[in-house]
Amino acid sequence: MSKLGSKASVVPAWAWILAVSIVVAGPIGMTALMQTHESSPPPIALSIAFGFFFGALLAIFVLAIGYINRDAKRRGMKAWHWTLIAIFVPNALGIVLYFVMREPLRSPCPSCGQLVQPAFNYCPACHHALKPACSSCGKALAPEHAFCPYCGTSVQAHA
Ligand SMILES: [Zn+2]
Ligand SMILES: [Zn+2]
Repeated sequence: MSKLGSKASVVPAWAWILAVSIVVAGPIGMTALMQTHESSPPPIALSIAFGFFFGALLAIFVLAIGYINRDAKRRGMKAWHWTLIAIFVPNALGIVLYFVMREPLRSPCPSCGQLVQPAFNYCPACHHALKPACSSCGKALAPEHAFCPYCGTSVQAHA
C-alpha cells in the first residue's frame, strides 16, 4: 500500500464484478419486465436502451461505493461507516459528503514507515520530527524561518 495506485485500482474487485453484472443484467431484466408486464409493450430496442441507461447509472454508483470503502481505509477513516453513508443518504449526497469531508492521504514516516497524517509534526509511533519544530515552544516551523513566529526564539541558534 506504499505506492499510490490509480483510482481504478482503489476500487475493490467485488465492486467491479457487481458493476459489470449490473450493466449486463440491466438491459436483459428491463426488457423482460417491460415486455411481460406492460399491456402495450414498447419496442424491444427502447427497453434495452432503458435497461442499459439505468444499469450504467447503478454500476457507477456501485463503483463509487467500492472506491469510498477502499479509499476511506487508506486515509485512516471509518470505512464501513462511510460506505453506509454513501449507500443510504439519498441522491448520492453521501458520496458528495465523503469527498468533502475526507481526510488527506497519509504518507509513511521516513524513519519507521508508520502512516502519518500530513498535519502531524511528530511521528506518533517513533517520535521522528516530521517537520522542523521550534526548540523552545515546539510549534512547527517553515524552512525559511530564521526566528520562531510564535515565541521569537532564534532558529539558527538551536540548529
Ligand atoms: Zn515514525
Ligand atoms: Zn517557538
